[in-house]
Amino acid sequence: MSSHYSAQIKRGKIAPVSSRPLAITLSVIVPFFNEQEVLPEFHRRLTAVLKTMPDSSEIIYVDDGSSDQSLSLVKQFSSPNSHVRCIALSRNFGKECAMSAGLEHARGAAVILIDADLQDPPECIPEMVAAWRAGADVVNMKRSSRLGESWFKRTSAALFYKLLNRLAALDIPENVGDFRLLSARVVEKLNQLPERNRYMKGLFSWPGYHQVTLTFERDARFCGETKWNFFKLLGLAMDGLTSFSIRPLRLATCAGALTATMAFIYGAWIVFKTLAYGDPVSGYPSMMVAMLALAGVQLLAVGLLGEYIGRIFIEVKQRPVYLVESMTEQAPSLKQTKG
Ligand code: UDP
Ligand code: MG
Repeated sequence: MSSHYSAQIKRGKIAPVSSRPLAITLSVIVPFFNEQEVLPEFHRRLTAVLKTMPDSSEIIYVDDGSSDQSLSLVKQFSSPNSHVRCIALSRNFGKECAMSAGLEHARGAAVILIDADLQDPPECIPEMVAAWRAGADVVNMKRSSRLGESWFKRTSAALFYKLLNRLAALDIPENVGDFRLLSARVVEKLNQLPERNRYMKGLFSWPGYHQVTLTFERDARFCGETKWNFFKLLGLAMDGLTSFSIRPLRLATCAGALTATMAFIYGAWIVFKTLAYGDPVSGYPSMMVAMLALAGVQLLAVGLLGEYIGRIFIEVKQRPVYLVESMTEQAPSLKQTKG
């Protein structure tokens, strides 16, 4: 199987989920990047949970170009009642792309995305599946606590979600990460979205349908370090804002109109003052302040424009979101399931 898929561009070549037989009820997608310390424990806990469920399932590990032993570890994993599949991307494309890869390959009637670092407890899965059976298309998992995260990260995340929801026309739930369940029809719609810039937390809300939110305690990382630094998070935040809202552009227009109006009124006042009172030219400091402030606002607006143009540039190139290097699949080892 691996040679068949070797370094192929997957986008457009994968049959949509709904056109494939849905013999598998649940697909669990696990994107990982250099997680060798935690993967064995993660797999143990996940398979223990899946074993207690009557549903047929598959676990899709997506290797996002790990440089440690994670991939060879995952290739040895097996499970008594789930198919274990591994999709290895050709390099590190980022978590958003790894999740897209998993979604395009999922065959389940319900799909769950979960982090490999055990911050999202696999023990929540039965509850999520129950919500899906009760009619939900998207089951969002809201963090009631964010253990092991700094005050700065918690505050900036809260501020970002507030800003995003104010600017975007969507209702993107606050404190909901990528841990969630999606029904096959939502996955199919997401797979049809052509954009390269995939801010998944926004995309999950975009199709709408019946969304349900459950709360859970987000644990601290089992071990290892977060893969996100401040600049990566800032980039993700800019991606989120610019791909779901053009309101910042409108704000720039409004700010421009306001400054221009004020400058016009102030100019008229200066002309009037000079004619009426014959005031001599004055105010080097005030001129400098006005010039620098205006130049700053202008550069800010140009930078903002650049953010959008840069994204148009990325979209028009039409490069694939990810490349697959190899794929492996291991059928359940003891009890056979259909599919
Ligand atoms: N991850 C990934 N590709 C990356 C960065 C992270 O697939 O480029 C995976 C990582 O292995 C983990 C999940 O995404 O399974 C969440 O990453 P992390 O725990 O570093 O993020 P945080 O929980 O701090 O937001
Ligand atoms: Mg984490």
